[in-house]
Amino acid sequence: MMKKFLMLVMMMLTACAMLLAGCGGDKKEAAEKVLRVGTEPSFAPFEFQKEGSKEFTGFDIDLIRAIGKQMGYKVEVQNMGFDALIPALNAGNIDVAIAGMSITDERKKVVEFSDPYYTSGLIIMVNKDNNDIKSLKDLEGKRIACQIGTTGEKKSRSIPGAQVTAFNTQSEASLELKNGGADAVINDAPVVAYYLQQGGSESAKTVGEKMEAEDYGIAVKKDNAKLAAEINKAMAELKKNGEFDKIYKTWFGEDK
Ligand code: GLN
Repeated sequence: MMKKFLMLVMMMLTACAMLLAGCGGDKKEAAEKVLRVGTEPSFAPFEFQKEGSKEFTGFDIDLIRAIGKQMGYKVEVQNMGFDALIPALNAGNIDVAIAGMSITDERKKVVEFSDPYYTSGLIIMVNKDNNDIKSLKDLEGKRIACQIGTTGEKKSRSIPGAQVTAFNTQSEASLELKNGGADAVINDAPVVAYYLQQGGSESAKTVGEKMEAEDYGIAVKKDNAKLAAEINKAMAELKKNGEFDKIYKTWFGEDK
């Protein structure tokens, strides 16, 4: 009698344990719906790491976190070279790339873009004491610093006779200018504006106007139109409920 009772208790305990394990397993699965995001954080105020911190911050980071939340994903951001983002997408190592990436016809051939979320454009930055360079034309034969794989690099390489050095990060390109290793930098206007505002204006300035408009988009793998549509849906929702404007205001200080 006692033996039978003990066996019954043990069976019940085992069943309970299995049930609990099962529950735990389900929970884990739900929390693991992860959106793997790639970025290149030398592009403040869109993506950067605050001094002494490894944590990513910026307009793009807040935006993709909000989009991920809206879609029910846990967002995990990883740091990679700007020119590594598209290969990483197509190799399936990341799900999305958000990096102030301009939607271009060339890129559209190899990746899928979300709807545009910010309108940008290139600008020229020179050292404060430079009074020779006033336009693109004046850059002919000059030393230009830019970032690898960017529209700024493409523009730099289109200038006749220019000696172009492409760096891994925008920060290095700006430093090269400051150190006198380059005569100019070509980079996105809002990023240059932020750099100047954060102390860069002590040694540098912009010249001329912003060049043709470039729209930023969130990139996903070429055949993944479904994910792009999901992102667009989430972004539209954030625009409707005021969240997008809130994020915009945080970083650009004005209403969209
Ligand atoms: N908008 C530019 C491009 O797409 C620069 C992006 C960047 O440097 N993060 O090439």
